[in-house]
Amino acid sequence: MRIYKTETKEMQTITDICCDKCGRSCMGTCGNFCGIKFCISGGYDSPVFPDDNTVREYDVCEFCVDEWMKTWATDYRTIETNIGDTK
Ligand SMILES: [Zn+2]
Repeated sequence: MRIYKTETKEMQTITDICCDKCGRSCMGTCGNFCGIKFCISGGYDSPVFPDDNTVREYDVCEFCVDEWMKTWATDYRTIETNIGDTK
């Protein structure tokens, strides 16, 4: 025979994600989040992030990502992707 009791557990949910560059909310009008999350880790020989493989996580809004990607060597607007392609 099993005897049960009811427990209530707390759960954390994300209510907003703020851009680590400009502070703007990444929340879209439908409650979704627009932007990117990326991780950076260096190493003992890294000239930019010399550490013990600490992984740092950042959230950046789509507006900052757009400005950032304009500085890339490749124009991301000309890159064709197969995302959503049903061919
Ligand atoms: Zn931003």
